[in-house]
Amino acid sequence: MPQRPLATRLRLNDVRYEIRGELARRARELEARGETLIKLNIGNPGAFGFQAPAHLREAVSRGLPASEAYGHQQGLPEAREAVAAVHRARGASQAHADRVFLGNGVSELIDLSLRALLNPGDEVLLPSPDYPLWTAATILNDGFPVHYPCRSENAFLPDPEEIEALVTPRTRALVLINPNNPTGASYPRELLEALVGIARRHGLLLMADEIYDGIVYADAPFQPLAPLAGDVPCLSLGGLSKVHRACGWRVGWAVLTGDAARIGDYHHAIDLLGALRLCANVPGQFAVQAALQGADSISALCRPGGRLYDSRQAVVDACAASGHLDLVAPAAAMYAFPRVVGDAATGFDDHLFAVELLETERVLVVPGSSFNLARRDHFRITLLPDSETMAEVFQRIGRVLARRAES
Ligand code: PLP
Repeated sequence: MPQRPLATRLRLNDVRYEIRGELARRARELEARGETLIKLNIGNPGAFGFQAPAHLREAVSRGLPASEAYGHQQGLPEAREAVAAVHRARGASQAHADRVFLGNGVSELIDLSLRALLNPGDEVLLPSPDYPLWTAATILNDGFPVHYPCRSENAFLPDPEEIEALVTPRTRALVLINPNNPTGASYPRELLEALVGIARRHGLLLMADEIYDGIVYADAPFQPLAPLAGDVPCLSLGGLSKVHRACGWRVGWAVLTGDAARIGDYHHAIDLLGALRLCANVPGQFAVQAALQGADSISALCRPGGRLYDSRQAVVDACAASGHLDLVAPAAAMYAFPRVVGDAATGFDDHLFAVELLETERVLVVPGSSFNLARRDHFRITLLPDSETMAEVFQRIGRVLARRAES
């Protein structure tokens, strides 16, 4: 009997995650041939020489013998209490360990929390550009992504009026990513209050992806959403991957706050899905309390003289000097999202540019349109390499853009 190819899930045809897609595969091919690349496609601190603080590693080692059994589906009680305590200290007075869920990274919790919420055709308001897992997980969980624009002309901040105009009777949730990947925007308090107002008026769940919460370069500190949301249902997400530089441990958390009468069913739905996957990776959970109660280890990296700050400054300077690039200086997180302008922008295609940059200059970036952005004139790089590497990267980018400007 002839063997037919295995069918895959049809909805996957609508799902994209190009950060680890075709270009990354091509990069691996080049590396296998012995080529040396500068890969700026993933915000993976460990790949750039960053390490988790020693007291986190010690906590995981100490916890290892007790990690062989399944844990609670919501996570280790002491880890959940530490997460709740941080949220209370920030002003979310109702944050409680019972309403904290530990997951295998924020990634798993994004999927699980959307799966717990959505019925077929329900709409989710998502930023454009976004971190593309949000759009992918909405689609895979039978929802419909509705993107609200965050324009470079407005420092990549969204316009609350524009968001509210997109609300329909099918809208269930308003997602925000703050500090933002890919743009580096950090949302001011008044903007967050306006978003809470929209959620309150239309009965939406707020979903705040705050995984970059301690990585801020500007003077204005990070403003968490939950304290402003009060009784409005709000799921705040954070984790160990970025601020604590331990992506590989796969530890994230979600904190559900808001009117108890309104969030009870949703809590049970997430709890059930958590139980179906038994528990999150246990060893990594032992680092949570150490991370949240130990000394701050990220701020120094984000100040002048700190590795992330200096790398960001090198990118800001290189873009300003380039003549082909316009950059909204990232206020936070670990990415820059430059736009190609001037002569080089004529007929510019972000994907073709990324291919040419990889093939001719051995630098891997992610095209801006991979972040659910309709226009094709941006690209994203991580700020994790040191400032010298960044200067070299922009020499190479400059050569490709100069060729394009001349042609
Ligand atoms: N959310 C955002 C905005 C991210 O940038 C990332 C990873 O880059 C994630 C979530 C996933 O993080 P985790 O490692 O916790 O799964």
